[in-house]
Amino acid sequence: MQDTMKNRVFNLIPPAMIVLVLIFWSFGPAALLDNPWTLPVVSPLITLVVLLLEQVHERHPGWRMNRREFFTDLFYVVLSATVISWLTQHLAEDPLTAAKAWLGINTEWAMHLPWLVQVALVIFVFEFGQYWMHRLMHNSYPLWLTHAPHHHITQLNAAKGAVGNPIELFLISLSVIALFDLEKTAIFAAFNTLGVIATFAHANVRSDPPRWYSFFFTTIRHHSLHHSTDYESTRCNYGNSLILLDRIFGTYRDGEASVVGQDDRRRLSIWEQTMFPFQPIVDAMKARRAKAGYSAETHVSSRSEHDNVPADPAPGSAGGTATA
Ligand SMILES: [Zn+2]
Ligand SMILES: [Zn+2]
Repeated sequence: MQDTMKNRVFNLIPPAMIVLVLIFWSFGPAALLDNPWTLPVVSPLITLVVLLLEQVHERHPGWRMNRREFFTDLFYVVLSATVISWLTQHLAEDPLTAAKAWLGINTEWAMHLPWLVQVALVIFVFEFGQYWMHRLMHNSYPLWLTHAPHHHITQLNAAKGAVGNPIELFLISLSVIALFDLEKTAIFAAFNTLGVIATFAHANVRSDPPRWYSFFFTTIRHHSLHHSTDYESTRCNYGNSLILLDRIFGTYRDGEASVVGQDDRRRLSIWEQTMFPFQPIVDAMKARRAKAGYSAETHVSSRSEHDNVPADPAPGSAGGTATA
């Protein structure tokens, strides 16, 4: 790749955006930092900025945004920001906060840590959980069924981090951060920092951040390899944002992929992604019904040919895609 000025500038954009996020949450006007709408606005704004950068310095033409991908991605970005985030708050965060109070767990010490250390603590705790959840998803069949749709995406872009089965989206949003007494701004700064890293790790932007960045943080090179078409190459680089964890736990692999998507790159619709974990059960029921229909037919020979339901599950259905 030509080391042009444009490349050099783009390589520095991810770390520069992290610095901007940290400056905003530490020195921003109090009116904005206290406003409950600031986080829900800044998070999609990061995605939007990176989507615009894709228009300026594209990585692969094959990943170029089109109408179909745009509306699919938009659906998942909105789903994550509304339904999934509501479920996380009410089914996980609130009960955890209540349990913390009931058990008398005191973590006031965390509040007295320097602000940047609090940000780092949130990043580490959140990513540690994400890493093991993601790794488990690749090694447990029921969990794999929820994660497989994310590996069926056939192109990467800044919004693709939000695309997946809703159960998976809920599971990877879980964390134990609610157990820690921390500055709100430090938590939000950490979330937006993770947002910047994970967004660039899925983005179609020709940006390869400096070595010191990619030592700690996941880049598109690491994550595109995780989205490879061949099964063996997907079994590495589980860190959504903190690739350091893969280095520590022995799952790091160097490399990059430009063609992504598993199972012969079969693109799934929103409905197929939603139904994916239940597909083995649906297929089994269909097969049983077909078998019952077949035995009934042997008795009633007047039935027409096209009433027959195929007994085999559809090719490429969940039953045949177990890569875990
Ligand atoms: Zn994965
Ligand atoms: Zn991904």
